[in-house]
Amino acid sequence: MPDTPNHLLHMKHWPPGLPTDMTLPTYSVARNLIDSATRVPDQVAIRFHGVTLTYAEMLAQVERLAGWLQARGVVRGDRVLLYMQNAPQCMIAYYAILRADAAVVPVNPMNRRAELEHLARDTGARIALCGTELVDHLAPLVSDGLLDHIVAAAYADMTDPTCDIPLFETLRGQSDVLCDGPGVTPFRAAIAEGHTPGPITAGAEDLAVIPYSSGTTGNPKGCVHTHASVQATIHGGAVWNPSAEPDAVHLVSLPLFHVTGMQSSMSIPILLGQEMLILTRWDRETACKLIERHRVTRWRNIATMAIDLLNTPDIEHYDLSSLRGIGGGGAAMPAAVADRLHALTGLDYLEGYGLSETMAGTHINPVHRPKRQCLGIPVINVDSRVIDLQTGAELGPNQPGEVIIHAPQVFRGYWQRPEATAEAFVQIDGKAFFRTGDIAQYDEDGYFFMVDRVKRMINASGFKVWPAEVEALMHRHPDLSEVCIIGTADPRRGESVKAIAVRRAGSQVSEAEVIAWCKAEMATYKCPRQVEFVDSLPKSGAGKVMWRALAEKEAKRVSAE
Ligand code: AMP
Repeated sequence: MPDTPNHLLHMKHWPPGLPTDMTLPTYSVARNLIDSATRVPDQVAIRFHGVTLTYAEMLAQVERLAGWLQARGVVRGDRVLLYMQNAPQCMIAYYAILRADAAVVPVNPMNRRAELEHLARDTGARIALCGTELVDHLAPLVSDGLLDHIVAAAYADMTDPTCDIPLFETLRGQSDVLCDGPGVTPFRAAIAEGHTPGPITAGAEDLAVIPYSSGTTGNPKGCVHTHASVQATIHGGAVWNPSAEPDAVHLVSLPLFHVTGMQSSMSIPILLGQEMLILTRWDRETACKLIERHRVTRWRNIATMAIDLLNTPDIEHYDLSSLRGIGGGGAAMPAAVADRLHALTGLDYLEGYGLSETMAGTHINPVHRPKRQCLGIPVINVDSRVIDLQTGAELGPNQPGEVIIHAPQVFRGYWQRPEATAEAFVQIDGKAFFRTGDIAQYDEDGYFFMVDRVKRMINASGFKVWPAEVEALMHRHPDLSEVCIIGTADPRRGESVKAIAVRRAGSQVSEAEVIAWCKAEMATYKCPRQVEFVDSLPKSGAGKVMWRALAEKEAKRVSAE
C-alpha cells in the first residue's frame, strides 16, 4: 500500500461512520431556515428570557423584515450592517438580510464611531440593523449621509437586573420601544409593515457574509464569503454534530458577530432545526443556571468562558449532567483547563480552529479521539498543509511552519483589495491555498498543534486585536507622537494589549489619561491596558518600527517577573 501523503495522515483516524467528502448545496443560506421551518415548524428555534419562538414563527419574522429591506431598496448583492448583541432579533436580522439576497456585514457591538464609519464607507452599506442601546453610535452616520436607514431592536439583557424593557416585547409586539431620530425605525415597526419579499435569487457565488479581519497585516478588511463558502462551513461542520438529537439545546454564548459563534451556535443549529438558548452577555452564574434549568446539551465557547465557568462559586452544586458536547475555538484551550472540565462534566473539550477568512472551523478534534491543547484534524473537504516560512516547501510531521488551507469554505478574497487578496494565497499542486499567518505543526496522526504566529495580531480572550488599527486610532491622540502596540502575557485573557508610546514635546499626559481617551475612541477590547512611555521607538534601517523587538523585550520582562 502506498504511503499516505503527509496532508492526509489524519484520514487514518477519520471518525467511523462520518462521510469523507460531501456535495455542497448551491442555494442561499436563507433556505436552510426555510427548510427547517417546513420540516419542524413547531420546534422551538429560540428561547430567550423564558419566551420561545418556533421555527415557523422565526421564519415569519425573517420574511417580513426581508420584505421591509427590499421595500427600502435593498437589492441582491447590497451590503447591510448588523450591529447587535446576541439576541433573537440579531438572528432574525441575519437571516432577513440573506433572505433579501443581500450580504451581512457583522459588526462587533463594541465598535464605536471611527470603526463604524470605516465599515460603512468600505462596504458602501446604506442600511444598518442595530440594538436600541447602540443607536447613538450610528445616528451620526445618518446625519453625515453615510447611512439612509437604521432599524433598532430592543432586547432585554438577562444579566442586567435594572433592565426594564418588557421581555421580548419587540417580537410579541405589545408596544414599540420608541427610537427617535431621522432615519430610525423600530424593529417591531419594520416587521409590522408586513412586506412580502420577492423570491430568493441569490445563488452559490453571490455575496453572503463579509466579516472584517486584518488578515496578516494592516487595517481591517472585509472577508468576502459567498453562499457557497458559508454553506461549506455550515454543512461541513454539521456532520460533526449528531443531527439525530431531537432534544438538542444549544447555549448561545459566543458572540454572533464573530464567525465562530455565527456558525457553531446559530447556523448549524438552524440547519439541524434545533433549539438555541440565547445569552446576551457572558455571565457564568446565568450560564450555569440556564444549563441546569433548560437541560442544555451543547455549549460552544472560548477558553476564557470555560475557565470562568470553572471558577463559579459552588459550581459542583449545579446540575450540568445534560451537557453532551463542549468545545470551541478561536483561542488555545489550556490542557489543565480541559482536564478540570472533564473532571466536572465527564466530557472531552473538543477544540477547533478557523479564521474569518474560512468562515470559522477548518480543523476540529474528533469526538472519538480528541487530543489536548490541539487544533484537531482538517474537516471534510479541507486540504490543510504546513509550509516552510522561508522556502515555501511543504513540511512533514513535527516541523513547524505556516498553516495553509485549500477548501470550499475559504473566502473569495478581501473586499475590493486585489493586492492583499493576491498576497493571501499561494499555489501548490495547481490549487490556491490560503495563507493563515499561523505557525503550527502536525503530528504523525495528522493532528495540528499551534506553535506561534507570523501575523501581527493579539488574541485577547479570543477577541482579535490588530495593532496597526489601534496604532492608527491612537495616532489621533493630541499628546502622542509615536505609538507601537504589542501583546503582553495575561493570565486571564491569554494576551492583553500594551502600548509603547512617545509623548509629544512638553506633554505630561499620564497612562490613565491615555487609557481613558482610548476607551472613548475604540472598542474596549482593543484599548491598551498598559501604556509605557519611552523617549523613542526602535526603528529598522527602512524606518519601520521594530515591533517584534519590543514584543520580545516585553516577553522577557514578563517571564523575569
Ligand atoms: P478570527 O479571524 O477572529 O477568527 O481569528 C483567527 C485566528 O484565531 C487564527 O488565525 C488563530 O491565530 C486564532 N485561533 C483560532 N483558533 C485557535 C485555537 N484553537 N487555538 C489558538 N488560536 C486559535
